[in-house]
Amino acid sequence: MCGALIPSLPVDDDQPGAANKARERFYSASAADGAIPDEVAELATRCVWEAVLLMRVILWILSTKVGTLALCGRLCISSRFPFVCKFADMPTERREEVLKRWNNARWLFPLRVTFVIVKILSHFSFYMMVNEGSDNPSWKSIGYSVPDVDRPREDLTEAAASPSPRPLDSGVVEMRSLNDATLLRALMDKGLATKTYVSGAHHTVRCDVVIVGSGCGGGVAAAVLAAAGHKVVVVEKGDYFTSEDYTSVEGPSMERLYEKGGIFCTSNASTIMFAGTTVGGGSAINWSASIRTPEWVTQEWAHEHGLPMFGRPEYAHAMDAVCARLAVTGGCREEGFQNKVLRGGCEALGLRADAVPRNSSEGHFCGSCHLGCPTGEKRGTDTTWLVDAVAHGAVVLTGCKAERFILERNTGNKNGRSKKCVGLVASCASAGITKKLRIEAKVSIAACGALMTPPLLRNSGLKNWHIGRNLHLHPVSMAWGYFPDGTPGPQLITGKCYEGGIITTMHRVTERTIVQTPALGPGWRR
Ligand SMILES: Cc1cc2nc3c(=O)[nH]c(=O)nc-3n(C[C@H](O)[C@H](O)[C@H](O)COP(=O)(O)OP(=O)(O)OC[C@H]3O[C@@H](n4cnc5c(N)ncnc54)[C@H](O)[C@@H]3O)c2cc1C
Repeated sequence: MCGALIPSLPVDDDQPGAANKARERFYSASAADGAIPDEVAELATRCVWEAVLLMRVILWILSTKVGTLALCGRLCISSRFPFVCKFADMPTERREEVLKRWNNARWLFPLRVTFVIVKILSHFSFYMMVNEGSDNPSWKSIGYSVPDVDRPREDLTEAAASPSPRPLDSGVVEMRSLNDATLLRALMDKGLATKTYVSGAHHTVRCDVVIVGSGCGGGVAAAVLAAAGHKVVVVEKGDYFTSEDYTSVEGPSMERLYEKGGIFCTSNASTIMFAGTTVGGGSAINWSASIRTPEWVTQEWAHEHGLPMFGRPEYAHAMDAVCARLAVTGGCREEGFQNKVLRGGCEALGLRADAVPRNSSEGHFCGSCHLGCPTGEKRGTDTTWLVDAVAHGAVVLTGCKAERFILERNTGNKNGRSKKCVGLVASCASAGITKKLRIEAKVSIAACGALMTPPLLRNSGLKNWHIGRNLHLHPVSMAWGYFPDGTPGPQLITGKCYEGGIITTMHRVTERTIVQTPALGPGWRR
């Protein structure tokens, strides 16, 4: 299937030259080459189990002649004995024809799911996998190179130009490098009370507040509560990276910064979801558009969903405080190619194009914020709110995954609830830590994002029917255009589609529909 999706193509151009050599290599390469099919198979196991099971069954059927005949029809019939071939033995063009049919036949749901998953993963692997030199054989011929992070940053403040190596060092405990003995010492060094019973299954830690997730929600909560004098522990399953660690190389960056390495899709494979899994959560890898919640949305929440808080001035003040801490600015000194195209197109059509506020400086141009901002100019929670939290004694545990909240009978029956939460149990991403961590706290906060909070609540034994329902995604449809170089002159838009601020311009079609430009690297075009 990989080879049919990205087949090797004949090259009829025999002109000499390095560019032609690269193009020749690109055309003759196929997604059936080398380790790509194995990589696709490995990545496929990250899909939801229903999809994985479906794929296994389909692939098993296709590995037999009878099964191939059933799923591919006459396309698998050959003129040579034994006249029917297995899918893998069919000529590439016929395999391609079969895949096209599966894609178009919406009623063949299992086949379509298999097709979509293999298609996405083949492109992902083909364009994203890198060798030891962090290079991919196709990049040169498609005109891609990893953005140069050494671009002059003349408007950086002195402090940002030579940042302290790790702003969270005074409060971070990285589980991956620890064992049972060093863990306890590290926790005590950060001012946490710990306890371990030799026969027990847990190391126990005590604090005032435990927060799951270090993203936009968790980071702000940690800063505010720590500043109010509470001993806060933030539990983060991802690892801690700083701008120095970010390479802008897509495959490896997504592997360590994104939930399931970026292969996180719905069971019918129709939608891929992205979520950050690192210190800073989504704020470490998002596109830095910092748009305030529109008033019509806050009004809808307040009046239609019974959440009056969002209609009150306090919520507007909270947004002001967040924007101030993130130094959100509406200015953009230089737009990247894509945003220039969008703005130019809007102007030509007489449509309104708005500037998009960002939590970075006006001159920020790295284009790699979705892989962790290598210039350190984007202000996620990892460089703002968590720094404030740590300055007030908060502790951030990385490589530490909350498994469940601990619910106990609410003997005082305060608030009319039958149970109360007294902390959580977490596992540590280190083979040297043999026990789970039991974090006891007066207050526990679940801030692990819209996708991961519901499973955590359910694993904790909470049964409310609404948990995990009513999820609203922010669906994005991509539209592509070919922009050949035009006549040189002031009107000519130049640049690369993967350079410059990711979103600096937008056109609002309706209240609920906007046109923006996305982050683009080879692997994001799957
Ligand atoms: C690629 C991308 C681009 C985006 N661009 C923009 C943009 O330009 N503008 C904008 O406003 N929004 C953008 N967003 C959305 C925005 O980043 C999110 O809405 C925001 O980060 C959500 O905050 P949160 O605190 O709810 O969760 P997150 O920021 O996702 O944080 C959740 C954290 O919890 C951790 N976690 C999850 N489960 C556990 C567990 N069991 N134990 C321990 N830790 C756990 C995760 O590792 C993660 O770090 C983007 C999102 C993505 C993925």
